Amino acid sequence: MAAPQIVWFRNDLRLADHAAVRAAAAAGPVVAVYVLDDTTPGDWRIGAAQRWWLHHSLAALGRDLAGMGGRLVLRRGLAGEVLSDVARATGATSVHALYHYEPWAKAQTAAVGTALDLHLHDGAYLSPPGAVTAGGGGRYRIFTPFWNALLKTMPPGDPEPAPMIRFADPPPSDDLADWALLPTHPDWSGGFAVWTPGEAGAHAALDIFAANVHAYDVGRNLPGEALTSRLSPHLHHGEISPAQVWAALHGAAGDAALPFLREIGWRDFAAETLDQFPAFAEEPNRPAFAYFPFRDDPAGLEAWQYGRTGYPIVDAGMRQLWATGWMHNRVRMIAASFLTKHLLIDWRVGERWFWDTLVDADLGNNALGWQWIMGSGVDSSPFNRIFTPVGQSTKFDAAGGYIRQWVPELAKLPDAAIHAPWEADSATLAAAGVRLGETYPLPIVDHAAARARALAAYASIR
Ligand SMILES: Cc1cc2nc3c(=O)[nH]c(=O)nc-3n(C[C@H](O)[C@H](O)[C@H](O)COP(=O)(O)OP(=O)(O)OC[C@H]3O[C@@H](n4cnc5c(N)ncnc54)[C@H](O)[C@@H]3O)c2cc1C
Repeated sequence: MAAPQIVWFRNDLRLADHAAVRAAAAAGPVVAVYVLDDTTPGDWRIGAAQRWWLHHSLAALGRDLAGMGGRLVLRRGLAGEVLSDVARATGATSVHALYHYEPWAKAQTAAVGTALDLHLHDGAYLSPPGAVTAGGGGRYRIFTPFWNALLKTMPPGDPEPAPMIRFADPPPSDDLADWALLPTHPDWSGGFAVWTPGEAGAHAALDIFAANVHAYDVGRNLPGEALTSRLSPHLHHGEISPAQVWAALHGAAGDAALPFLREIGWRDFAAETLDQFPAFAEEPNRPAFAYFPFRDDPAGLEAWQYGRTGYPIVDAGMRQLWATGWMHNRVRMIAASFLTKHLLIDWRVGERWFWDTLVDADLGNNALGWQWIMGSGVDSSPFNRIFTPVGQSTKFDAAGGYIRQWVPELAKLPDAAIHAPWEADSATLAAAGVRLGETYPLPIVDHAAARARALAAYASIR
């Protein structure tokens, strides 16, 4: 009789196309374990919105395992200690897991590897960090050459179905409800009902998107249309693998899926960057940015966080984030640019807010997005690129549908006035029931003045 094998789930909460599940199932009866470790990640412990997701995703994985006759064992603590305890209780001889590239997760992995016989497998990315290298073995720091090289190694291996699993007698488990991952006082998660966490929910989202993948190249920039995949929280939690996404979409649309698959390539690039620069989420890649003259502006920050800046497109995005735990990529860029350039608030302050409020908060993707907008990353937007909120809004939300959905107090304004209500005449505002400064704020900064101030700040560190 083969000895029990532990599958240690982390950001890979699925059963299909999971090399660690397969390896464990092939080697012996399986003990499936998830360890909630709030110590090792330090400041990067899982944020509030993601805790909501994690609760539901673990519940879904637990149900899927129960349907196969097994059980998901939930434990809290340091992974090395918890898994050693589980191994002692079950007689398990080996632990199987997927590689996890966040710096704190590497420390966690090392601790488990010291205590136990740990087998690590690929599967979180199209290609693991460090695998695609430039001539001479150097690592990529710029996205386009990285993507071109990665593309030459594609397609990824065919995704594998979930294996048949025999289960060992499980040791005692915590009760998921006792982990208190869900918000209670107050419960702000009502708007999160748009999501279905878990492996089945991930595949349902993929199926919906597969019908739209042809429209992605144009539609991806329109926040008022549901033309992006909304797979980010599913991918972050590993409920679906990038190889499964590739196989489904390239299979359905061929190379017409490449503009979309390139974005999955950005996810790989973020992991590649974080693997090379472990402090990437905390420190600017370009050293000059250590001297950037950021402002301390608590009132401006609060207006940004709660969608009261007086710039409708920024406010719509921040309110979508607060209500649903997600924001459209185009608006993430506009909102991040507004915080860092119009308000000159440190990108790390915005990064932390996103960390706590996004259901897809991902250390690498989030830092890459913020450093790109700030211009402090290795591969970044040019220094002097300052998004004009009204211009972006007019271009990408021309009919104002996105603003009307998330800033309902402006809903009755005509299309021509909704992007910059402060420029509308008083009759137009009155007819729409808008009283600036009362029902909706006046802009907290003047665009031209803020732009000039930002350019001066950038010039000071050149
Ligand atoms: C300031 C800022 C912060 C961000 N923070 C995060 C974050 O914490 N987590 C996160 O997953 N994405 C982040 N992004 C990237 C992007 O906004 C989201 O991945 C995307 O909006 C998710 O929606 P979707 O799944 O519909 O995307 P789609 O357009 O359908 O893209 C498909 C997938 O590709 C990946 N992807 C897309 N764009 C990027 C990108 N720029 N960088 C890395 N991966 C990408 C995601 O996994 C996404 O699910 C951030 C972007 C910015 C500008």
